[in-house]
Amino acid sequence: MSAIDTLLQRNAVFAEQRFTPNLPLATTLGITVIGCVDPRVDPAHVLGLELGEAAMLRNIGGRVTPATLQMLTLLGMLPRLLGTPRPTGGMHLVVLQHTDCGITRLAREPDRLAPYFGVAPDELDAKAVLNPYAAVQVDVAALKQAVSALPEGSTVTGLVYDVATGRVEIVAPTTPLGDAGRSAGETMVLRAGADTPSRATE
Ligand SMILES: [Zn+2]
Repeated sequence: MSAIDTLLQRNAVFAEQRFTPNLPLATTLGITVIGCVDPRVDPAHVLGLELGEAAMLRNIGGRVTPATLQMLTLLGMLPRLLGTPRPTGGMHLVVLQHTDCGITRLAREPDRLAPYFGVAPDELDAKAVLNPYAAVQVDVAALKQAVSALPEGSTVTGLVYDVATGRVEIVAPTTPLGDAGRSAGETMVLRAGADTPSRATE
């Protein structure tokens, strides 16, 4: 049996036994997860998310890249276009990165990895690619810098998932995006030892 046959067989069981019709387009938990494509860290499994509960943006590393921000901007517009305001206020963003991430290997190819972040190769160090705990702080700060593109009342939480234990750890407690959150973000970047704290204070 091919892998596709396996998937179709599993889908038949899903449609029969677990499918929930008429789910709303808006997430029922108001959560948007930014996570990695690594097959071991699917947020639905790791965080026990059910259908309809959260939107998930997955890319290499679970990083806040220019493409991530573009997607978040478009997603942030949806409730207004649908005429259904978020019951939970703004977007509740969860940055979920993990140990033993493949992006640490890609760091050996800085000329190819830098454009992913929209930076020059010599600026890649500031992205903390080798350390997920620091990288979450960098990305939380990047989201705080992008607050004007996100719905009012949005928040961000930073998590690191340990592939050796199955547990997530809060490395950036939930903070509001916006003016209050922006000052907290500056502090976190400085504590994380990022090479370019000036980016957080632009
Ligand atoms: Zn990864």
